[in-house]
Amino acid sequence: MNNRNQINLELQGEFLEFLENYHGNGYGFDNEKENENKQIKKNSNEKEKKIKQIRKKKRQNKLKEEERGKEKENEKEKEKEKEKEKENEQEQEKEQEQENVNENKRKKLKQELKIKIKKAHNKQWSDRIYNILTADSNCKNDCKYCYMKAMKNRFFKTDLEDFTMKVNEKKVKKGWRKNKLKPKLFMFPSSHDIFDQFVGDYIKVSKKIMLAGNEVLIVTKPSLVCIKKIIKQLSYFKKKILFRFTITSDDQDILDYWEPNAPGFEERLNCLKLCYENGFNTSVSIEPYLKFPNTLIKKITPYINDYIWIGSMSGLNSMKDIKIDEKKRLNNLYRFENTLKLVNEFKNNKKILFKTSVMSKIINNI
Ligand code: SF4
Repeated sequence: MNNRNQINLELQGEFLEFLENYHGNGYGFDNEKENENKQIKKNSNEKEKKIKQIRKKKRQNKLKEEERGKEKENEKEKEKEKEKEKENEQEQEKEQEQENVNENKRKKLKQELKIKIKKAHNKQWSDRIYNILTADSNCKNDCKYCYMKAMKNRFFKTDLEDFTMKVNEKKVKKGWRKNKLKPKLFMFPSSHDIFDQFVGDYIKVSKKIMLAGNEVLIVTKPSLVCIKKIIKQLSYFKKKILFRFTITSDDQDILDYWEPNAPGFEERLNCLKLCYENGFNTSVSIEPYLKFPNTLIKKITPYINDYIWIGSMSGLNSMKDIKIDEKKRLNNLYRFENTLKLVNEFKNNKKILFKTSVMSKIINNI
């Protein structure tokens, strides 16, 4: 027994030693404690793991929440965009409606304006017209664009080369009844010019018209000889007289072609200066303008106390015997775009008025 115990003790001693060496210090005896520690550690790890999982879940929930929030915002945004689109569409519809109303208004105004321009065509300058040459007399100036020449030829079969001008004596001798109403403005002459050979008769008739309580608009391509006589003999009536000198260009070559027998540019300008300096009412008609009138306007403006009128030529394409180059040049000058340029250039010039020919060109092309 003692021997066996001894053997068993030794065996156990060896076994324990083996165990100790195999698992480290205190394995056999500390196993429980170690297990406890391990359990604590395990519990702690599990707790930590759980906390992590909870945190993770929280984070995920938060993210999901945020995403839902974002989605909601996006939906709201989309809703807003839709509303905005709808508003824009409504706005566009309104604008279109307004545009239609404006367009109709514009059309109506344009139509009314066209009628007004048409009605004003022969009344822009005077209440009445008066002439003292016989209806079949051709005007000696022989302007190529003269509509009177064509008309006389058509109605009286006049010889276009015959410039024998005859004064209508009846018209010179005619007595004028006193005008008790508002003074009438007589454009005198309207279908011929004033020439030295009958300027005496012209002055006589002008006096009668004015003594009858009317006023006279003297439209002429002025010659110094006639204007000096008129100034001298009608100075008493200067308040009742408005000179309107036709100066269609400041380019003498152009004038020589279109108005071959009329006084030159310098002579007409001198007539204008003379009337202005003598205290008469002065104006100029640039009708038909034969080139862009910017330089001409600069030259005449200092001697104008009334208006400068600008008008274009009518019937150019039906005129016979006109140089092809000149027709081309003038057709280009009177093109819509160039007429608009003319209007834009001078619309703010308080001294300038446009004839119906210019206004019609614009209004009919817009
Ligand atoms: S001055 Fe007048 S009326 Fe005489 S030819 Fe010229 S446009 Fe005709």
